[in-house]
Amino acid sequence: MPLLEQLGLLDELKEISLEGENLSIYRESPGGESLELLSKTNTSALKEISGYPSIIMSRPDLHALLLSHVPSHKLHLGKRVLSITQRSENGVLVRTSDGSTHVCDILVGSDGAYSGVRQSLYKLMKKEGCLPNSDGEEMKVCHMSILGTSNSMDPNIVPLSKDGLSRCDAVLGYKKPHSSDSFRNSDWGSESNGSIQEDWRAFKLPLGPDNPYVTVGDLINSTESDNVTKVMLEEKFYTTWHHGRTVLIGDACHKMLPNAGRGAVNAMLDAVILANSLYEIAKDATYSNIRSAFKEYYDERFLHAKADFESSRKMASILSGQTWTDDIMRKVIFNFMPSAIMNKILVKSLAYRPQASFLPKIEYRGSGRVDPQKESKRYLQEKAAAAI
Ligand SMILES: Cc1cc2nc3c(=O)[nH]c(=O)nc-3n(C[C@H](O)[C@H](O)[C@H](O)COP(=O)(O)OP(=O)(O)OC[C@H]3O[C@@H](n4cnc5c(N)ncnc54)[C@H](O)[C@@H]3O)c2cc1C
Repeated sequence: MPLLEQLGLLDELKEISLEGENLSIYRESPGGESLELLSKTNTSALKEISGYPSIIMSRPDLHALLLSHVPSHKLHLGKRVLSITQRSENGVLVRTSDGSTHVCDILVGSDGAYSGVRQSLYKLMKKEGCLPNSDGEEMKVCHMSILGTSNSMDPNIVPLSKDGLSRCDAVLGYKKPHSSDSFRNSDWGSESNGSIQEDWRAFKLPLGPDNPYVTVGDLINSTESDNVTKVMLEEKFYTTWHHGRTVLIGDACHKMLPNAGRGAVNAMLDAVILANSLYEIAKDATYSNIRSAFKEYYDERFLHAKADFESSRKMASILSGQTWTDDIMRKVIFNFMPSAIMNKILVKSLAYRPQASFLPKIEYRGSGRVDPQKESKRYLQEKAAAAI
């Protein structure tokens, strides 16, 4: 949020968002006939500590907002990266699915969990004998989720967003995916739905106005099939984020479970720290300086991303774990944990709020402490020179 405010996008962001005031956790009653409210937590502490509310927006709206600020000539669409060849002194050669090749100084793989850039880079590194074994292992598929945006006119379903849409993001516990579900969801689309199993359709959701609940099946039935997608929720933390002139950011190098809402946040934090590091060397972008900038990015981001990866896993158990220990944890944390301890955890987790070091900084909001950020030497020098 501070970063988006620094970029001047906060007002537009508010336009497309709803404030999430509560986090409510439900579970099915033992017989499965109704939903039972396990806990309801207010998000006001988060607002007080960070200075920003907890907001929820639809992914296409966020994409459209960000895209509207990127000059269209900077985007080349319909080019799926197929393979890369690194030439240390002369750049990276990228082959794309439209049959073209591109030579670039650096390549940033921000192409998601099944990153073609990562796979191609790791193949090269394996040949060179410098890929750690753990990075060669497959991602672990842990959960499955059904997402849908319903422009439902069904009076039995309560709209969740400003435009009257109901968005269902049902993380269906630890159900094992069927063997036919082993698709890759580098792009989410209705084609990945396949059959949504009957027992999943019966899964209850607290979205009924008069009825206590509706089911996933009710929501799917009142939603255009193009708007429903089924995604695998994988997790894997890679340790190799850069090699030569290629660097990875976001899910391409750390795919975390979505329950803590930290995946996209971490992708954006990677992007800003990488941009800060590259800005510093951009006027003298030798091969050696590029590699130093990548290392600086990695050194700053690695531990923060790792901590969020771990907390996302914990949050997945707390929010949707199906064992009796998960249940007890949930009850204790949301009903009995003293608010002072909860606030201490929040203050710690919200302290890391880096901004773009090459733009004027904004004042931090909220009562929580903020970790100090390294200043850009280049920005300070250029500012001082401009002031003379
Ligand atoms: C159910 C669910 C809910 C979530 N909720 C939240 C949340 O509330 N908050 C949060 O912070 N995060 C959330 N996340 C996580 C978030 O979606 C991801 O962490 C985030 O999208 C990662 O961004 P990315 O840019 O790294 O990858 P992606 O968003 O996956 O983008 C990758 C892009 O690369 C393109 N691409 C793929 N392969 C190639 C190729 N070979 N060549 C060229 N382009 C390619 C794809 O088309 C895509 O546009 C959620 C995830 C899930 C599954």
